[in-house]
Amino acid sequence: MSESQDLLQRSLHSVWHPCTQMKHHERYPLVPITRGEGAWLFDSEGKGYLDAVSSWWVNLFGHNQPDIKNAIKAQLDQLEHVMLAGFTHEPVVALSEKLSVLTGLGHAFYGSDGASATEIALKMSFHYWRNIGQPQKTRFISLQNSYHGETLGALSVTDVAIFKDMYAPLILQSAQMPSPDSRLAETGESEEAYALRCAAALETYIAQHHAELAAFIIEPLVQGAAGMAMYHPVYLQRAREICSHYQVHLIADEIAVGFGRTGTLFACEQAGGRVSDIADFICLSKGITGGYLPLSVVLTTDEVYQAFYHDQTVKGFLHSHSYTGNPLACSAALATLNLFEASDVLGHNQQIAQQLWSTVQAYDLPLKYLRQRGMITAFEVETVNPQFARDCYAAALKHGLLLRPIANAVYWMPPYCLNEADIAHLTKATYMAVAESM
Ligand SMILES: *Cc1c(COP(=O)(O)O)cnc(C)c1O
Repeated sequence: MSESQDLLQRSLHSVWHPCTQMKHHERYPLVPITRGEGAWLFDSEGKGYLDAVSSWWVNLFGHNQPDIKNAIKAQLDQLEHVMLAGFTHEPVVALSEKLSVLTGLGHAFYGSDGASATEIALKMSFHYWRNIGQPQKTRFISLQNSYHGETLGALSVTDVAIFKDMYAPLILQSAQMPSPDSRLAETGESEEAYALRCAAALETYIAQHHAELAAFIIEPLVQGAAGMAMYHPVYLQRAREICSHYQVHLIADEIAVGFGRTGTLFACEQAGGRVSDIADFICLSKGITGGYLPLSVVLTTDEVYQAFYHDQTVKGFLHSHSYTGNPLACSAALATLNLFEASDVLGHNQQIAQQLWSTVQAYDLPLKYLRQRGMITAFEVETVNPQFARDCYAAALKHGLLLRPIANAVYWMPPYCLNEADIAHLTKATYMAVAESM
């Protein structure tokens, strides 16, 4: 047995892999990765795979990125970790200050993963209403087909049946509002008109239920796990107006869409102004460390923060976890933000996106709903193959490409470091993988 075969066997015996029916690995082998460079991952035989999904949407500037790597190394020589209750350190303060300037929100509260950020935002919103004497505001709403993570609290506002239905008896009741996903518009109805129609439905619901509603949580502009469903920014503007009018918090879950993914640093900015003009809370994770280390954060308003500031301990936000504000992760996040400052990343991404767009438009394949927001490009494949997603994934691997379709939606969410050769490979290998798996 070769060394890599041996590793695969050991992995299947010892590791329970995420989002996976382990039995399927009888037919679909694991891929043993030994190193990464730029947009590429390499297996133990030296075969390369272009990482078109940024390793589950976390990587921004490529693998083995020197600035982020060196920032972590430098921090490692100073301080690897210290508890954040009662103690503080430069990386966590510097990062919190920067995020505050960029979003207009502040009082950064840290977690280690996206689902925890969702939990923190939900708990903070609920607790805020208690602290200000409105304890009846306990419920949450989200969009149909939304994804906010898979811990029990986050799952209660997530609306993806395959992740949620099994655990229904364990989770809180929440209501789902019609999604402004433009694929769902009537024929002839514009994206904007459809978004406004969904906003009207949101208003009807909130007008009736606001007395018991704490918050509306939403993925701004792109519902990732729904298969990169995209919608018009006017929905965010209207949601903000409605939430303000009826005193319901708006939680922007930019875990996937933050840090330039949709063309602006934060997706909320496309509704005009800053994040703080749209959201009472923002949840960030995934790209925050450039894909290097686990970190998440929730930022909120002075008003929310002040409601917890009190002589009584229990009025405080007592949530905690062991690695809160880890210095290594914060140093990776600072290095990532520095890369945005050092060059015109968003402008450069626009050129990449343009190239991807013109190439995919020329595909002679049965595609529907071709769509793009910044560095996310997606389309549906009209196919009768019920195993399309899995077959396409396997075909792409064969062609040296990591692609993970969601049902019939094929999407690109690549690192921002794609060069001309990478773009050529990505578009050609995708074409072949789709054509071979229909
Ligand atoms: C990935 C994701 C989460 C959950 O983040 P994890 O780190 O996987 O827990 C939450 N919300 C959105 C929009 C996401 O894409």
